[in-house]
Amino acid sequence: MSISLDIGGTWTRVSSGVRLRTEPSYDNQLARLAEAVPRATAPVGVSFGGRVTAAGTVRVALNLRDYEGRPLGADLSALLGVAVRVAHDATCGLVGEALAGALQGFERCGYLTLSTGVGAALRLGGVWLTTEVGHQLVAGNPLPCDCGQTGCLQTLTGGGALRRRLGRPLESVDDQAFWAAYAESLALGVANFALAAGLEAVAVGGAVALGRPALWPLLQAALARVLTYQRVVVLPARLGEHAPLAGAARLWTLPADAVLH
Ligand SMILES: [Zn+2]
Repeated sequence: MSISLDIGGTWTRVSSGVRLRTEPSYDNQLARLAEAVPRATAPVGVSFGGRVTAAGTVRVALNLRDYEGRPLGADLSALLGVAVRVAHDATCGLVGEALAGALQGFERCGYLTLSTGVGAALRLGGVWLTTEVGHQLVAGNPLPCDCGQTGCLQTLTGGGALRRRLGRPLESVDDQAFWAAYAESLALGVANFALAAGLEAVAVGGAVALGRPALWPLLQAALARVLTYQRVVVLPARLGEHAPLAGAARLWTLPADAVLH
């Protein structure tokens, strides 16, 4: 049986249809997966909410700090009895959208996910590259970020940072002025992302974007004001919250060295 996994900061999804809360403890998570994941007979692709090495060891996971330094790929391979490839969830979202979603046909394209944090990855032809676009520095922004820097885009557009600052979840905020300012910050971030790599298209996904359709006209209007030099198609992720899982399922169709973690 061919299966794939999406281990996010809050939820873990298995392609068999199982969804469970991600355990903050790495060892507890492995124990839960041992119970919940069906037996695999083919190599497994895994989307993870953090940066990993090519071998699948967790380098940085701001929302799952107990996972840092742990050999996730090797441990899952031992658990499932098959070979495992792990990639950042934004990279998996990009693979999903590029091969089966909104970014089909674009050789130079990017995927930006707005959820607890802000993740992004880009495709340049046959190269799939994880980026740190969420931690690009915004001029005049004095807010400290979880990463240790001051002024990151994530402090203005990440669900976790905004929840702490506003004292309530982002999905409960209906203030028009707030979302207009949010769209302005996001538009600059998307524009810089696209301009830095000369992208033709950017798909935006993640729970924050997908849960608020009213953000789209605000974002498109803000982009039209700032992004006038180069035409960039900006569109919603068509696979929705399933984009990372769809990409994880396709990781093994790519050459191993095509993904730069
Ligand atoms: Zn940061």
